[in-house]
Amino acid sequence: TLQDRLQATFRNLRGKGRLSDADIDATVREIRLALLEADVNLAVVKEFTAAVRDQARGAELSQALNPAQQIIKIVNAQLVEVLGGQARQLRFAKTPPTVIMLAGLQGSGKTTLAGKLSLWLRQRGHTPMLVAADLQRPNAVNQLQIVGQRAGVPVFAPEPGNGVGDPVAVARAAMDEARRKLYDTVIVDTAGRLGVDAELMAQAADIRDAVHPDEILFVVDAMIGQDAVNTANAFAEGVGFDGVVLSKLDGDARGGAALSIAKVTGKPIMFASNGEALTDFDLFHPDRMASRILDLGDLLTLIEQAERTFDVEQSRQAADKLMAGGDFGLDDFLQQMQAVRKMGPMSKILGMMPGMGQMKDVIENIDEREIDHIEAIIYSMTPAERANPDILNGSRRARIAQGSGMQVSDVNGLVNRFKETRKMMQQMGRGGGIPGMPGMPG
Ligand code: GDP
Ligand code: MG
Repeated sequence: TLQDRLQATFRNLRGKGRLSDADIDATVREIRLALLEADVNLAVVKEFTAAVRDQARGAELSQALNPAQQIIKIVNAQLVEVLGGQARQLRFAKTPPTVIMLAGLQGSGKTTLAGKLSLWLRQRGHTPMLVAADLQRPNAVNQLQIVGQRAGVPVFAPEPGNGVGDPVAVARAAMDEARRKLYDTVIVDTAGRLGVDAELMAQAADIRDAVHPDEILFVVDAMIGQDAVNTANAFAEGVGFDGVVLSKLDGDARGGAALSIAKVTGKPIMFASNGEALTDFDLFHPDRMASRILDLGDLLTLIEQAERTFDVEQSRQAADKLMAGGDFGLDDFLQQMQAVRKMGPMSKILGMMPGMGQMKDVIENIDEREIDHIEAIIYSMTPAERANPDILNGSRRARIAQGSGMQVSDVNGLVNRFKETRKMMQQMGRGGGIPGMPGMPG
């Protein structure tokens, strides 16, 4: 998998201080393969990887991440950006009803989406009406009626007088009905063909001109793969659309088509449909899609952790300052310990951090429960005792042991460990060298 291959790249890069062009090229090559495997359009891949390469070359060096991690981070951010950043909201008409027209190939999921979207709107206080303007398939009207019933939303279907057999007349009659009955949104389901088709496109354009949609949503099956771009282009040209809905994201397609469509048409992906149930539907989340396309869940988590870990580095610097002033107390000690704990599965992260590999063994020996005990003991001390542990005589230690539910020997152990750490830090403070992780239980 990409994860495995990138992990291998990481191993090669570990210990390197900066991004060389060769590092960048190697990582970009892997990303390129991953995108192609995810069915992203070749032209899009080329442009995308070129942009990543440029950014990586110009990148400020991060102290928390190694070179490959930095590139992954750039790639991920770029993907999220290309996928539209924050999902765009539906635009509602100033004067209701707001008209939403669905377009797309047969089987792309339009009718299902009509139901999902109407339920979603209803749950948000809107009063939608569905319009059956797909008169192509014998069962299409009936399918929409069933979906509407499940969503609790009225369906406007052709009847004698409504223009039987003419979807444009039906759409027009539906608009009259919506105005009369004060529905605030009208969702127009349209016909699709199995492939792009001129007659169909003309019909969709006619419906569009009859209802003046506020939003035309292009519905596309995420499993469609390489064809997505051609289809999207054909619809962009034939009907035009304002936003994209990705359907069938519950399938096992990686969804690279999404990236291609967003990039090629410049239209935002607004919703994601991920199942047959009416509630399998949500606003589109570019960050989730990016993780899905790159399939880098774990790696991205590690990168986030590594960056958070970098806070530890900063708190170490704060400790350095404290040392210079000479008043490193138990509160600081505890803070260091908690910072280390925040790092999560440490052995994993540290191996990936520049210059931290050698700390791995030490840190692996921290027992999480031990940190709990240390916390309990320190929290049982008075502020004066924490600031100046030298005042901890026998009776104070007994009181603290009692208060924390620990033994006096545990309190003694902690105080000794603290004093050793403090000594170590003061030495390092004088030496000015790079100190190890402070506050580390021996
Ligand atoms: P239309 O021809 O564009 O109206 O497409 P339909 O709404 O009739 O959907 C075609 C088929 O795909 C139906 O069997 C739907 O149940 C199914 N479908 C639609 N959306 C989804 C989805 O998000 N996930 C899954 N698994 N199936 C879907
Ligand atoms: Mg349909």
